[in-house]
Amino acid sequence: MIEFEYQTLPWNIIFGAGALARLPGELDKLGMKRALVLTTPNQTKSGEDVIDLLEIRAAGLFDQCVMHVPQQTVSAASVRARELGADCTVALGGGSTTGLGKALAVQMGLPNIVIPTSYAGSEMTDIWAITDEGRKVTDRNNDVVPTLTLYDPTLTLSLPPKFAAASGLNAMAQAVVNVATDKINPIVSCLALDAVKSLYESLPVIMDKPDDMEARSQALYGACLAGGALGTGATSLHHKICHTMGGTFNMPHAETHAVILPHSVAYNAAATPDGSARLAAAMGAANAADAIYNLMKKLSLPLGLKDLGFKEADLDQATEVTLEKPFHNAEPVTAKRLRVLLQNAYDGVRPRPIS
Ligand code: NAD
Repeated sequence: MIEFEYQTLPWNIIFGAGALARLPGELDKLGMKRALVLTTPNQTKSGEDVIDLLEIRAAGLFDQCVMHVPQQTVSAASVRARELGADCTVALGGGSTTGLGKALAVQMGLPNIVIPTSYAGSEMTDIWAITDEGRKVTDRNNDVVPTLTLYDPTLTLSLPPKFAAASGLNAMAQAVVNVATDKINPIVSCLALDAVKSLYESLPVIMDKPDDMEARSQALYGACLAGGALGTGATSLHHKICHTMGGTFNMPHAETHAVILPHSVAYNAAATPDGSARLAAAMGAANAADAIYNLMKKLSLPLGLKDLGFKEADLDQATEVTLEKPFHNAEPVTAKRLRVLLQNAYDGVRPRPIS
């Protein structure tokens, strides 16, 4: 018997090669006249191109976005937005840039337009975060869902294949946890399964042929759906571990998600037989955790936390921090079993069930 509840988010999406050109007209339709363009220092040039495209609709550029959205950065951007009389933000970049747009929506009520250039998928979620005094605070709020998201796959051509692979696995994690779960929501799992399939097929092509527009488009589409699954779905053990790794140990976001994913899937496999089987089928494989691990090898991604510079001596603390607050997970999580999972992830061994 089917039984579920589902609430969508106020998504407003334009997707297609060349979609960036529509930005000025779309701002006019929304009645926005002075956009503050946001980028990281790496993407200043792309931000300047957007300013040129916007002509009189551009208020200026703030190109100091950094990972984890520090409160100092939010404050500096707020000052700039006020000085320039901005009436909206246009965030062009990955999850860090989208994150600043969301923070300014929370703190200043500025509508945010997002042009994603990585596969972080944040633009499809209602989750925002700000880091202050060493603590990353996250919350959910519909007001941070972008007023408009413009997906233009041509902007992802500059994403180096190595980072594209890690970012793609970050996206895949958002989908995977919403299929390999004991709380399958049929609508969310539709989004998630198509996301997994799209990413699984396109990422190896991008590694071989970085200029393949079809694969770049398919990967960005997968990221969009995966973000949608996370935005309307749930998180579990996988995201708890990665939050610890990022918040307490400052580990790289996308790469850490990739390393943890096969192990968190293996951990939950016995408790999620239906979802795990569907997940494996979406990848044309018999075992979902194995398929993800094999994909990572194919993409030449780091397999172990040790390859990302994590210290083995910190595994005990990572276990404790992850378990500080209770959370839902299909398979019950104990300190002993989590410690084994983390050791496997540290060593980068083939994922296996943990009894
Ligand atoms: P990022 O945004 O920090 O980007 C990494 C680097 O890649 C940056 O220097 C960026 O400028 C560059 N870059 C991005 N796209 C590029 C392109 N097309 N060409 C060249 N360079 C490009 O990293 P990320 O992995 O995209 O995002 C990670 C952040 O997003 C984390 O802080 C994470 O917490 C957050 N996040 C939030 C959510 C959410 O729902 N709130 C979801 C996923 C990630």
